[in-house]
Amino acid sequence: MPERPDAGIRTLAQLKAATLACRECPIGEFATQSVIGEGRLKARLMLVGEQPGDQEDLQGHPFIGPAGKLLSRALEAAGIPREQAFVSNAVKHFKFELRGKRRIHKSPTQREIAACHHWLADEIALVQPEALVALGATAARSLLGRAVPVTANRGQWLPREDGLQVLVTLHPSALLRVDPEGREAAFEAFVDDLRQAQRLFRR
Ligand code: SF4
Repeated sequence: MPERPDAGIRTLAQLKAATLACRECPIGEFATQSVIGEGRLKARLMLVGEQPGDQEDLQGHPFIGPAGKLLSRALEAAGIPREQAFVSNAVKHFKFELRGKRRIHKSPTQREIAACHHWLADEIALVQPEALVALGATAARSLLGRAVPVTANRGQWLPREDGLQVLVTLHPSALLRVDPEGREAAFEAFVDDLRQAQRLFRR
């Protein structure tokens, strides 16, 4: 069974308010707002990425930028209705460095991932998904509690201590960095990974 949420967190609105105010790691100080997951409760599948990006930080919704659009396309190709899933991130604030006026994504440290883990645990407990997808190494580390080499484990289900299964794959932003000539094959491989979760939607 998923971990129980913190005593004070009983709704996603409460989770949003608590993460907005959170300063348990340095990331929260510089972001516009926290971004928690969206989708249906008791979802068959909860997909977890790394952290909000630039657009997500400004608009307050997860996976709405280029990587999010690619994820939607891949889910559709894999036969997984995004509206029946729940989509979130391991870290709830956007970490970046300023280059001129541009905000460039910066990966969270292990310590920051660990600091944010209890909010993700609350979210999983509220959503009560049947299974999880780790989109990339940060999500895999947070969901499984250890470093997981994504390339060696992609397309595989790994068990958590609470019994939930975690399907490991790449973060969709990794596909955006693939050379144009390899992009279609990389997309197909990503869809193949996600298809491992399609059986959850056949019932
Ligand atoms: S990233 Fe997570 S732990 Fe860090 S301040 Fe934001 S909500 Fe808190």
